Amino acid sequence: MPRNPLADTERLHDNNSPLARTGKDVVALGIAIAAIIMFVGTGGTVLPAIARSFSGTGLGPDKLLVNALLLNIALVIFGWRRYRELTGEVAERRRAEAQARVLAETDALTGCLNRRAIGPAAEQLFGEAEKRGDAVAVIMLDLDKFKQVNDVNSHAAGDILLIEAARRLFAVLPEGALLSRIGGDEFACVVSHPAGRTDKIDSLSEELIAAVARPVPYEGSEIETTISAGIASREPGSAIDSQALLHSADIAMYHAKKRGRNRHCWFDPAMESELKFRSELEAGLRRGIGKGEFVPFYQKQVDLETGELAGFEMLARWKSPVLGQVSPEIFVPVAEEIGLIAPISEELIARALRDARNWDPRLTLSVNISPLQLRDPWFAQKLLKMLVEANFPPSRLEIEVTESCLHENLGMVRSMITSLQNQGVQVSLDDFGTGYSSLAQLRSLPFNRIKIDRSFVTTVNDSPESATIIQSIISLGEGLGLPITAEGIESQEVLEKMRGLGKFKGQGYLYGYPESAEETEAELAQLNLLLETPVPPETETSIAPVARSA
Ligand code: C2E
Ligand code: MG
Ligand code: MG
Repeated sequence: MPRNPLADTERLHDNNSPLARTGKDVVALGIAIAAIIMFVGTGGTVLPAIARSFSGTGLGPDKLLVNALLLNIALVIFGWRRYRELTGEVAERRRAEAQARVLAETDALTGCLNRRAIGPAAEQLFGEAEKRGDAVAVIMLDLDKFKQVNDVNSHAAGDILLIEAARRLFAVLPEGALLSRIGGDEFACVVSHPAGRTDKIDSLSEELIAAVARPVPYEGSEIETTISAGIASREPGSAIDSQALLHSADIAMYHAKKRGRNRHCWFDPAMESELKFRSELEAGLRRGIGKGEFVPFYQKQVDLETGELAGFEMLARWKSPVLGQVSPEIFVPVAEEIGLIAPISEELIARALRDARNWDPRLTLSVNISPLQLRDPWFAQKLLKMLVEANFPPSRLEIEVTESCLHENLGMVRSMITSLQNQGVQVSLDDFGTGYSSLAQLRSLPFNRIKIDRSFVTTVNDSPESATIIQSIISLGEGLGLPITAEGIESQEVLEKMRGLGKFKGQGYLYGYPESAEETEAELAQLNLLLETPVPPETETSIAPVARSA
C-alpha cells in the first residue's frame, strides 16, 4: 500500500524533540526525589525515637524533627501528584500537537497529503530511492472537465468524485508511493521505480487512468469522468528537487489535456518554452485590448468572371509590442479560450467599418466572427450599434462563420443568423468542406453564401479528390441557390480551372495578399474607388432593419 499520511505522521516528525516541554516534569520529579531522600534521613531518626518512646526505653523524638518529617511526607505526596499531573498534561499536549500536524499536512476531504506536505515527503522519498539506486517519478493527475461535474450535478457530487478518485488511486499505487491532493481536482503521485524503467511508470499511469475512468455511483445514477496525467522522472544522481519535478509533471499534464485528455504524457523540455510562449501570449492579449494593437488587414475579393473588385475580407492581425505581428491562426484560438475574442473582434469590426465606409459604396466588407460570438444573444444588437455608430449600410456587410459553428446548438445558430439577416447583413459559411457538416444541417440554416475552403482550391489541379469535392460543393450551392466564393486562388492555372467549373467570387494571393488599412486605401485611391468626401460618423443613412425575404 502507498503511504497513508494519517498513519505516517510520527515518521515524518520523529526528529521533533520534546525535551523542552519535559523540563517542568523533571523539576517536579526532582522535588519528589529530594523529599523522599530527606524523608529517609529524618524518618531514620524520628521513627526509631518514636518506637523507643512507645516501648518506654527512651525519650520521644525531637519536635522539630517530627515537624520536618511531616513536612517531608506532605512534600513527597505533593511532588509525586504534581509529577503525575505534569506528565499527563505533556502527553495530552503531544497528542494534540501530533493531531494538528496531521491536519496541517492532510487534505481534509480525501485524506491525501496536502500541497504543503508533498514537497518534504517527496524529498525524503528521493533520498531513500537514491540509496537503493532507484529513479523517482512524479505523476501529476487532473480530472477532466471536473467543473462540469460541479456545475451539472452539484458540489456534493464533485466531492464524492474526488474522494472516490483518491481511493482508487491509493488502491492502484504501489507500496511506499505518496499521494497528494495538490488542490481542486489535481493529484500528485510520487513513486520510485528501477532506474531506466520508464515502461513501469507508463503502465502504472495507464492503470491509474483506467481506475478513475470507471463510473462512480451517485444518487441512483452514475458520474463518469476521465483523468489526464503528466509525468516527470528523476534518475539517481540527479540534482532536480521536488518542486522542479512537480512543475515539470504539471506542464506535461497540461500537454496531455491539450492532446485530447484521458491520456498520459511525459515531460519534454520543449513543452516548457511552449507554455511560456502561451502565457506571454495570454498576458499580451489582455494588455493589448483597447490599445489599438489589433488591426484589420484587407484581402481583395474579386468576381472571377469579370475580374472586377467586389470587396474585401477583413483579416485580423495583432501587432504585439513583444511578439511582433501575430497571425490570427495563433492568437484567435487563445483569445477564444480565455474569453477575450468578443472584445477583440468588436474592436476590429468597429475599426473595419470606419475604414470601409470611405470605400466605393459598391464594395462589400466581410468579417470573420468566432462561433463563441454566435452564442452571445446580444451579438446582433451590438453589431447594429456598431453599424449605426460607423454609419455603414448593413447590406454591404457580410459576416463569415466557420463550419464548426454547426456543431453548436443549431436552433440558437439559426435564430442568430436570422436576426443578423433581419438587420440586412449577409451571412456566409466559411471554410466549407472541412467540418463534415451534413447537407441536412446546411439546408436548415439560412446562409447567403458558401466559401470553399482554400485547401481544396489550392490543390484543384493536383488532386482529383479536391476537384471532386469542389464540384460537389458547386452542385450543392446550385441546389440550395447559394452563391459561392473560392478562397486560395494562388495561380493563373487554378484561376483557369475554377473558371471552367462555375461562377464564383474568389480571393487569393494571385489577386493580392492581405494588406493594411493604409495600403488598401492607397490602392483604392489609385483605382478611383475611394469616396472623395469621407463619410462622417453617425449621420442618418438607411440603416433601418431590413426584413429578410423568405
Ligand atoms: P479565413 O477566414 O478562411 O481567411 C482566409 C485565410 O487564408 C487568411 O489567413 C488569408 O490570409 C489566407 N489566404 C488568402 N489567400 C490565400 C491563398 O491564396 N493561399 C493561401 N494558402 N492562403 C490564403 P489569415 O489571415 O492567417 O487568417 C486565418 C484565419 O483566421 C481566417 O481564415 C479566419 O478563420 C481567422 N480570422 C482572421 N481574422 C479573424 C477575426 O477577426 N476574427 C475571427 N474570429 N477569426 C479571424
Ligand atoms: Mg473568412
Ligand atoms: Mg476561410
